[in-house]
Amino acid sequence: MIYLDHNATTPPAPAVVSAMLPVLATGWANASSQHGPGQDARRMLAAARAEVARALGAKPAEVIFTSGATESNQLALRGLLAAAPPGRRRLVLSAVEHAGLLKLARELAAQGVPVDVLPVRPDGTLDLARAAALLGDDVAVVSVMAANNETGALMPAAELAALARSAGAAMHVDATQWIGKLPFDFAASGADAVSLSAHKLRGPKGVGALLLRAGTALRPQLPGSQERGRRGGTENLPAIAGFAAALQRLDGLPAEAGRQAALRDHLETRLCRALPATHVYAAGVPRLPGTSMLRFGLLPAEVVLQRLEGLGIAASSGAACSSGGSEPSHVLTAMGVPRDEALAAVRLSLGETTTVPDIEFLLTHLPPLLAPLLDEAMAT
Ligand code: PMP
Repeated sequence: MIYLDHNATTPPAPAVVSAMLPVLATGWANASSQHGPGQDARRMLAAARAEVARALGAKPAEVIFTSGATESNQLALRGLLAAAPPGRRRLVLSAVEHAGLLKLARELAAQGVPVDVLPVRPDGTLDLARAAALLGDDVAVVSVMAANNETGALMPAAELAALARSAGAAMHVDATQWIGKLPFDFAASGADAVSLSAHKLRGPKGVGALLLRAGTALRPQLPGSQERGRRGGTENLPAIAGFAAALQRLDGLPAEAGRQAALRDHLETRLCRALPATHVYAAGVPRLPGTSMLRFGLLPAEVVLQRLEGLGIAASSGAACSSGGSEPSHVLTAMGVPRDEALAAVRLSLGETTTVPDIEFLLTHLPPLLAPLLDEAMAT
């Protein structure tokens, strides 16, 4: 099988699995227990936290381990809003945030929180000037993703963080798709809170973190004594050890990002040449290196995915959480893409395990399958 769905999740790296297995066997004690095994677990937890912090340019105390980015996003939005000074109640976020975060924003709006949704341009990027105009002194939290999970378009999170700071609002960045694909440094990011998830960077599922800048007020959403009182629940030590091991592997990242970008560009160029009806979304803007969201004329995504499946290639029609539904992607809809064009969109997301022969195989076998379908569609 050729796996081209790395934005949905990534296969755990062998080094991650071998870091986790001994911890599963020996690090089972509760890190809050006072006895010897508990102290051993606590030491392992502290070591993993230090490694995670170092890899991300954060201080160990700024790392809050969570069950993944969905929880980190919820903790950030609810927690920062609840701790904002009186008079600051407004939430500002982009229209292309992750589905879970947008659902939460709708829930908060229904509960009376004023919410402003920032539009995106047709190329999928955020209009910073429009964002700046919305940042008044009643804004509590600004939340924007670092990179979009569907189109791969990079968002001006650092510029927005500077604007949020001067407006006195807290800045949350969902960096789930960025971290692991492009270099990241929390101290330099300017953000107050950053979400990430281990399974997007070849770590295990069900673990992630919210990085919270020292001194930032946050109301816990799962009260308990762990994580300095900011997130209760016995720590999932084997998963946290795997998360740390996954982040340690990112040293070779710039070269790998360059390799994936070149492979993705080759894929797009050759597909456009073989099938002139190919359209690439967010093609002209800076994107994540391995992400390609495209459509072949108006061939429905499920038809293309069926052909890919037949070739043994796994891809998706967008975010895994919403794929399978018959509704067009909210990201493409926010970009102003008409419904029929959005329903034709297929996402190919390359990763560390993607090889040149994988891409050549797709390029050899997919166009001959799609060309007659496109000719047929043209004729009708
Ligand atoms: N944010 C973004 C941008 C994502 O792509 C994802 C994963 N689909 C999430 C949040 C949720 O991450 P998790 O699976 O760790 O809950």
